[in-house]
Amino acid sequence: MNKENLTYAGGAGALSSSIKFILRDDFIKSSKSLLKLNQVKGCDCPGCAWPDPNPKERSFAEFCENGVKAITYETTKQRASKEFFANNKVKDLAKLEVYELSQKGRLCEPLSYNKQKDIYEAISWDKAFSLIAKHLKKLKTPDDAILYTSGRASNEAAFLYQLFGRLLGTNNFPDCSNMCHESSSVAMNKNIGVGKGTVELEDFKKAKLIMVFGQNPATNHPRMLASLQEARKNGAKILSFNPLKEAGLLGFIHPKDFKSMLFKTPSQISTHYYQVSLGSDMAVLQAVIFYILKHHKTKLDFEFIEKHCHGFEDYEKHILSQDFKNLVKHSSLSKKEIKEIADLYLESDKTICCWAMGLTQQEHGVASIEEVINLLLLKGNIGKSGAGACPVRGHSNVQGDRTVGIDEMPKEDFLKSIDKAFSFKSPRKHGVNVVNAIKVIAKEKNKVFIALGGNFAEAAPDSKLCYAALEACDLSVYISTHINKSHLLCGKSSLILPCLGRTEIDIQSSGKQSLSVEDSMSIVHSSQGRNKPISSFLKSESEIIAKIADATLGKNKIDFLDLISDYDKIREKIEEVLPIFKDYNKKIKNSSGFVLENLASKRIWNTDTKKANFSSNLIPNLKLNSKHLALMTMRSHDQFNTTVYAKDDRYRGIKNKRKIIFINPKDIELLGFKNGDLVDIYSHSKDNIRRSVKGFEIISYDIKQGCAGAYFPEANPLISIEHHDKKSFTPAYKFIDISLKNTK
Ligand code: SF4
Repeated sequence: MNKENLTYAGGAGALSSSIKFILRDDFIKSSKSLLKLNQVKGCDCPGCAWPDPNPKERSFAEFCENGVKAITYETTKQRASKEFFANNKVKDLAKLEVYELSQKGRLCEPLSYNKQKDIYEAISWDKAFSLIAKHLKKLKTPDDAILYTSGRASNEAAFLYQLFGRLLGTNNFPDCSNMCHESSSVAMNKNIGVGKGTVELEDFKKAKLIMVFGQNPATNHPRMLASLQEARKNGAKILSFNPLKEAGLLGFIHPKDFKSMLFKTPSQISTHYYQVSLGSDMAVLQAVIFYILKHHKTKLDFEFIEKHCHGFEDYEKHILSQDFKNLVKHSSLSKKEIKEIADLYLESDKTICCWAMGLTQQEHGVASIEEVINLLLLKGNIGKSGAGACPVRGHSNVQGDRTVGIDEMPKEDFLKSIDKAFSFKSPRKHGVNVVNAIKVIAKEKNKVFIALGGNFAEAAPDSKLCYAALEACDLSVYISTHINKSHLLCGKSSLILPCLGRTEIDIQSSGKQSLSVEDSMSIVHSSQGRNKPISSFLKSESEIIAKIADATLGKNKIDFLDLISDYDKIREKIEEVLPIFKDYNKKIKNSSGFVLENLASKRIWNTDTKKANFSSNLIPNLKLNSKHLALMTMRSHDQFNTTVYAKDDRYRGIKNKRKIIFINPKDIELLGFKNGDLVDIYSHSKDNIRRSVKGFEIISYDIKQGCAGAYFPEANPLISIEHHDKKSFTPAYKFIDISLKNTK
């Protein structure tokens, strides 16, 4: 067993790691930037989407270790300049590991791929825009354009992007939401009429019970630990469900708590830790609900159910028709634990359920989330203080991008509104999501692929197929701050367009501009950069999109260049299309921004039945060959999405390596291996295509027996494109059927 994994997060380790990152590059610039991070009139952290506290409660250092890594990554002195590209062929750069590539620094000027020389060369902005326009204008159909968005793009940039795409004639807007919380959006929209969480930070202070499913806050949204710590101090019980023992779910030392730092006295986070098997959360929930309905039905909130819910009787019948013993068996917990969870749930009159990728990235992700909602509805835990549903988003504006129209299946009301505001008829045919985009590009080729941020190739599943698809494009265009693997999968033509980072000043013809973003709790707030851009060639994402649109469509429809002259004009248009943004330009000046209306939290249900819907689902039959394991992909602690800041995973005791696989010591023995063995991993998918990755080191770890964990993107080649949730198309990065062989 790996002895070095910690039993708490934060503390001196987080502090010294933050200092190390600040000191390793441009100390002065990064320190100045950090003092403005998440402050009023400051810069919004480009990391995760966890909300900022009320302005009065913010300290001078309102960021976590991950915030430090994100900022130092942006303020680095390293440059991927045109000289760098002139000296490095694409085929050589493509051999670098994800970490090595991540460290090459900021992009400085627009670049175009020279196929003969196999290098990227500088190109003028005007020529780059003309080339894009030329390709887009000659498309056989607008649906040959695929417009990808990463969750870092601001509301303003995302709104312009979707407007441009719809004017072009397509709804092809795959985005990173398709790979993370799409299952949450699908389930919640159907069940409670809104695809977003229903809680605010204040609710964490009042909750009596918080259930955390498939989440590792210490690495993925570290400031959430401060909210959980405060909830514990206020008496809340916290139940964690995770196949791995994660340090941050066990304990936490707030780096601002001097006494705890000095005496190394962490606060306990989880009062109860349930080490579940991958994919078993849904069976846990159904077993708990079965037990409640069978033995404690009178303790339900029938006033709420009768007034606000639809389908309770059918749901009750469905659950009670299940075999309790079978549910318990598939839950991977004991009957005693199921009863304990049920009792804890019944004891609490204010419960929050939080979840992240452990729940959403399953073949039955939507059904699992529907079960979470069923549980909450039984005691009226939606639309009351201290209670609610909390899907925790991973990227700073992934929620906002969807709100302002990055959606391959837009609602008719939104399209009508766009049509009215801009006097054109937008396309009604649904576009492609990430899974279908890869399939369509791979099959039909000749596409134009434009990526507003992100690293599509490394985020997506089925790497071999995805890489080949990108290389088959007629033109690929990447709007980016740093070089990444996607740039090296060149189509017939490829462009890299360097953009401003969040910390940098954005000046347009009317002067300095601010952006706006929406966090995980629907709070829209502004962000402004203070740093001089690292190169005079950089343009903002909004400016790049506007100039692509102008070159392609001209001014006869909409004057994109006028819209970007002052971002207030873009926000006026967002308000015109989406009335929830009423008085946008006025409210965005509030020190804490403003909260977008969330009807479900007011117990108004925008569903087909106009009530909150109970949903009935059958648990999946997850079986594996006795020599196989169920693999999940996950982040290391020094990683944010596909960006790898360093090769350590401190909370799991890993130093300077990434090609590893975490396995329970009993499984290591049962399978005939030893801790430290090098193995090749083979996946067994329904499409019978043999996929493998080579040379992974076995790490003995406290993970549920039968399960294994490995980092993405290294393990992404193992995932079949067909392995996804059937309703949301979210790739199932969890529960990959694998076997191992010693590396020869
Ligand atoms: S919790 Fe998230 S948003 Fe806040 S500083 Fe850390 S990474 Fe940035």
